[in-house]
Amino acid sequence: MAARTVTSILLIEDEAELARLVVRELMSAGYEARLARDGAAGLRAFAEHEPDLVLLDWMLPILDGLEVLRRLRQTSAVPVLMLTARAEEVDRVVGLEIGADDYLTKPFGTRELIARVRALLRRQERIEQTLAADRASGSSLRFGPLALDPVTHLAHLDGQELDLTRTEFGMLHLLLRNRGRAFSRGYLHEAVWGEPSVDGDRSVDNAVFRLRKKLGALGDTIQTVWGVGYRLRPRS
Ligand code: CA
Repeated sequence: MAARTVTSILLIEDEAELARLVVRELMSAGYEARLARDGAAGLRAFAEHEPDLVLLDWMLPILDGLEVLRRLRQTSAVPVLMLTARAEEVDRVVGLEIGADDYLTKPFGTRELIARVRALLRRQERIEQTLAADRASGSSLRFGPLALDPVTHLAHLDGQELDLTRTEFGMLHLLLRNRGRAFSRGYLHEAVWGEPSVDGDRSVDNAVFRLRKKLGALGDTIQTVWGVGYRLRPRS
């Protein structure tokens, strides 16, 4: 993102009217915007242009949004904001599990959309800065059988690659480089998501829940600090 002067955004959306409106708003907010009208075209456009962020509609012809997201995540950690007309909690959970970074229910205001886009790009920048700082210090982080490599963005447990979303990696990374230190949910949210949490937001708890599951026997190494938040157990 840093090397490019203009931030580029790929919109994958089949509703022509909405797509036109969103592209116009993105461009007037200073972004470069590209549109693909179905899932397959979206994946092709992504491979060709490597955008900084993807706005992904859920219901799409040829390949639906979830399938597009699944395929994107096989090779890319690009921030993805899902757009959906559905409001069912189960869909939101599935999308976030697969690796959507945020999600916006239609109909949405363009101001809200641009605010979410900005927040996602800020979060991405923050994660990249943290990772760059660790690259500069050349440190691969270890905690018992767990290893985090900020250069390749990969986590390994007992030599097996862990399948982490970008936010899960970011949170584990933050806890690991500050082991023993307790962080409030609010701090973790701001540090990892790049924006303050709102009342009732469970993103941090959900991410910790998933991380513990993925860490298996090492899961209880992320400790709940009652009345505060979370920390990584001081010693392995
Ligand atoms: Ca649609």
